[in-house]
Amino acid sequence: MRVLKFGGTSVGSPESLTRVKDIVCAQEGPSFVVLSAMSGVTNELLQVLEGIKTSNPEGMASSIHVIAQKHQHLIDTIFVDEALRQEALDYVKAVLETLSNLYKTPELPNLYSEVITIGELMSTYVFSKFLQQEGTANACLRATDFMHIANGDNPAIAPVKSALDIVLAKQEQVSVYITQGFVCLDADSKISNLKRGGSDYSATIIGAALDADEVQIWTDIDGFHNNDPRCVDNTRPIAQLTYDEAAELAYFGAKILHPKTVSPVREKGIPVFLKNTFDPESVGTKISDDSTAKGLKAIAAKDGITAINIKSNQMLMAYGFLRKIFEVFEKYETPIDMITTSEIAVSLTIDDVTNLGQITEEIQQYASVTITKEQTIISVVGDSLISEGNSIHIFSILETIPVRMISYGGSTNNISVLVDTTHKIQALQQLNTALFETENI
Ligand code: ADP
Ligand code: ASP
Ligand code: MG
Repeated sequence: MRVLKFGGTSVGSPESLTRVKDIVCAQEGPSFVVLSAMSGVTNELLQVLEGIKTSNPEGMASSIHVIAQKHQHLIDTIFVDEALRQEALDYVKAVLETLSNLYKTPELPNLYSEVITIGELMSTYVFSKFLQQEGTANACLRATDFMHIANGDNPAIAPVKSALDIVLAKQEQVSVYITQGFVCLDADSKISNLKRGGSDYSATIIGAALDADEVQIWTDIDGFHNNDPRCVDNTRPIAQLTYDEAAELAYFGAKILHPKTVSPVREKGIPVFLKNTFDPESVGTKISDDSTAKGLKAIAAKDGITAINIKSNQMLMAYGFLRKIFEVFEKYETPIDMITTSEIAVSLTIDDVTNLGQITEEIQQYASVTITKEQTIISVVGDSLISEGNSIHIFSILETIPVRMISYGGSTNNISVLVDTTHKIQALQQLNTALFETENI
């Protein structure tokens, strides 16, 4: 079994969905297809949510109208079979009707997930009917029937596997199974989601549950590039990455992968291939345990970082002081990304500022706290990077940019620096030019 995941742009227009259909139909053996919502739809659903919460029926109706138009155009273009076209249209109408009615229940628990997962319901249904029109036997499965994810950060695969086995046992055998990415059930069996971009994660959770031969993630670019192509010129795809490298790059901001994507498949050694829907012949990237190349692989940047400096003249290096600080972050379930210490101060970074107020208040009881927002972590990632020696050049390359923190040596795969977000593009471009475009660094 192969798991194939297609992202928003891949399912975002009649032309691209036709490419997806061709890719799926060209597979040999059974496939499990995981789809995102059409591109733009999840963002529009966030507007709908805003309309519900702020009692703004016009705003909500206008976003629902945009979503309806997008699907209507798709359906009208891809279906020649009138009965199937009507079925697809009726389904979308019914789903959007239910969405409109959520206006009456703004207090509904899990309203956020109820609303923002609707795009995946529509894209999968339409695709299932599209394959049916092509004569490809398929089954469209409800992700909520098997994606039981009690802990989104580290989901247990066993409950997903048992539930999926039951769902599949009830199905007639078909060559293509289709389901919604991003959508899951939480510990209380209420609808939940795997966070923005979470369909990648759905694919690898399903891949691990099915003991799949491979997971393919199809998107709008020819694989994992050595730098963020949205910020830097002359990036190029990387043929192979290890699980560790891909995990570090995704965690430190490479948008092509949800940060948790590799964790479910890494232990089982299931390879993940990143492929381009719009250029299926291009090689793409293989993520696996095969480590062919040592040294530098890629650079990623993670925005929206807050730096917290904690200073205490008497206590910092006193026994137990760091534990006391970490306990506050643990209490408020706030992960720390980078950390550096000196004799009298500790600096650390977080990206989730939900509980920053309470965290600051508690730490201020025994130390002074300074907060700096709008920071960016830039991570240089590769295999055995630190032992390669060349990495020390990173600091001279960035000599014109004020670096606020450095993380070196925590992992042999990653060297990270913290810069003000206003310096991000300059830093990425300078590193790219010096590390990838110049022969002798
Ligand atoms: P999908 O909708 O298919 O999930 P995403 O938009 O989430 O696609 O991810 C693909 C995009 O990620 C690319 O179009 C590219 O702009 C961006 N991206 C950022 N960093 C990288 C990188 N290192 N390599 C490739 N793409 C990257
Ligand atoms: N549709 C969701 C999002 O836009 C999930 C995904 O595409 O992976 O974040
Ligand atoms: Mg994505």
